[in-house]
Amino acid sequence: MQDILAILRILDQMYPKAKCSLDFKNPLELLVATVLSAQCTDERVNQVTKNLFKKYQAAADYANGPLNELEEDIRPTGFFRNKAKSLKNCGAALVKKYKGEVPNSLEELVKLPGIGRKTANVILGTAFNTPGIVVDTHVGRITQRIGLTRQRDPVKIEFDLMELIPKEKWTVFSHQLIQHGRKICTARKPKCPDCPLLEHCDHGQVTAGS
Ligand code: SF4
Repeated sequence: MQDILAILRILDQMYPKAKCSLDFKNPLELLVATVLSAQCTDERVNQVTKNLFKKYQAAADYANGPLNELEEDIRPTGFFRNKAKSLKNCGAALVKKYKGEVPNSLEELVKLPGIGRKTANVILGTAFNTPGIVVDTHVGRITQRIGLTRQRDPVKIEFDLMELIPKEKWTVFSHQLIQHGRKICTARKPKCPDCPLLEHCDHGQVTAGS
């Protein structure tokens, strides 16, 4: 059984300032940036949203603007047709049900078009200061490697982690693992000999002993 408090302490030392790297000024902008970040780097999303957020300032702007124009505006983020459709439908739902505001509960967020648990937890943790564990590709991979979960499905991983990790650490833990996944525990070649989590990690122990 992993010493979760030791793991959290090490992550705090390694990534004391871990936070969301998407640029945003309000919950709507974060929602849009998070939708755009699927299969795209945060840097590219930030480049695109710099102009996008000047043009689209309210949920109604996404709902009412022409779809083909929105597609062109977000094209560099990839999968732009699906993303534009999600943003347009989501904007319409926000206008219809929430007077254009982004709701602040998981139950309401996941009912919006194009918003899954991952995006909802990003919005909750980062825009509303409500703890949420974001299971993206980095968080899923690293928690499996360490041995904090045996699940493969992101929602099941999220529930395993919610049992293990104190609630007040849910949001920062997600950001810390995302940074760790980018810098050290990369998908293709984790740098286990350089990793301060080595002694607490199943995968690291196996590779160190082989
Ligand atoms: S020891 Fe290796 S596998 Fe484990 S968290 Fe560190 S880099 Fe990843």
